[in-house]
Amino acid sequence: MMSELALKVTGLAKHFGGIKAVDDIDFEVKKGEFVGLIGPNGCGKSTTFNTISGLLEKTSGEAEVFGNSTDGLAPHEIHSLGLTRTFQHTRLWKEMTVIENLIIPPRNQLGDNPLTAILHTLRPEHEKARLAKAWKILETLEITHIAHLLAGELSGGQSKLVDIGRALMGEPDLLLLDEPVAGVAGPLADSIFEHLRKLVNETGITILIIEHNMNFILRKGVDRVIVMNEGKVLMSGTPDEVRASEEVVKAYLGGDGEDHTLPEDDIESTPTLRMRNKRPFSMNRGIAGIALLLLSMFIPNLGWISTHGLLTGSSDFLDTFGAHIFDASMGDLWAGLHMVFLLLFALSQPIILYSLLRNSWRKTSLDDDAENLLLMSGLLIISGILLWLFNDTTSNELPFGAMMTMAAGAVMYLDYPPSKGGEEE
Ligand code: ADP
Ligand code: MG
Repeated sequence: MMSELALKVTGLAKHFGGIKAVDDIDFEVKKGEFVGLIGPNGCGKSTTFNTISGLLEKTSGEAEVFGNSTDGLAPHEIHSLGLTRTFQHTRLWKEMTVIENLIIPPRNQLGDNPLTAILHTLRPEHEKARLAKAWKILETLEITHIAHLLAGELSGGQSKLVDIGRALMGEPDLLLLDEPVAGVAGPLADSIFEHLRKLVNETGITILIIEHNMNFILRKGVDRVIVMNEGKVLMSGTPDEVRASEEVVKAYLGGDGEDHTLPEDDIESTPTLRMRNKRPFSMNRGIAGIALLLLSMFIPNLGWISTHGLLTGSSDFLDTFGAHIFDASMGDLWAGLHMVFLLLFALSQPIILYSLLRNSWRKTSLDDDAENLLLMSGLLIISGILLWLFNDTTSNELPFGAMMTMAAGAVMYLDYPPSKGGEEE
């Protein structure tokens, strides 16, 4: 007979000396349910997870996972019943990339047996399957773009997502998450919740999630909420029922409707990720940039004409170019530099054009682009000024052409430097 319950906790208690951290609690979580476990700091939520997952020995009581007693089982044995838990403080390998953090199995799960370890090295397709699975999980959590970042570079919110991803690698049937959104900026916290909701709906996984901010979790579409206070279960019900309950309102809100117990806001600014941030890039920006570029191209002997001449070998650009090679061979250093800058100027235009087209097509731009274009435009200004100083007959209108081309480049990094926050999209 298959149990209808993913988790059944009966008379569970955990005492630390005189402290009754968990004090005789009962609750159940049905298969496929998304349940919140909430309560003020120190009320025993993490200790409940620690005793269920076998990390701490329980003082008394019973926890059943899919109908199996966990009595006397070690954490990895409870894990093999289908239960995976995450910790309040994420533990990632900081000097490894995100994808590596996912594909390397946690201790006590795989590779314990030297024979299986050897078999796995003999079977690279197993590795490939694991990589494909990791990638799929990153897709589900919408974080493929950070796959190759080092875990140590991630923001708090990103680390939490990677930690959840790692928990999903073992394909758990029951997932216990300990405050996966604590310290995560609001919009990302919302999106983590939406991903979890989607996961429950689509895969039938059961999730029990700890969150200490009641106001937050009651808005986030969990099926049911279990409320703890001082080691006891205060009540369990739908978010609406919990919100309506006087007992809970008293425990949390001190009876007068004011929020005394909860921190006002658990949102802390996440560190800014340098480079690789994606930001929206509109078609209008692309068109504006290209228009500016086109404008610069119609200036005689400059821009497009130079570029075009360079590519086809058909304009006086090459003559000028050739003349300067001749000058340089006469030992004229300035003429040699002049040639270099003319070349640079001619090359910058197709590069900027390419970036504008690509970003318009993808509708996103990257900080890398902004940095590169910043550099490109800087060189363009210098080459423009120098060419103008050389007072070459081909470069009389160069400062204007340079300015136009630079303006096109500037369209690329209108909102550079990266806005604070550093989260993607
Ligand atoms: P929560 O996760 O709800 O914030 P915890 O389960 O971490 O609360 O803690 C519940 C109580 O148990 C607190 O008073 C805490 O100080 C105590 N406690 C937790 N772990 C230990 C431990 N290993 N040793 C002694 N006391 C502990
Ligand atoms: Mg805790």
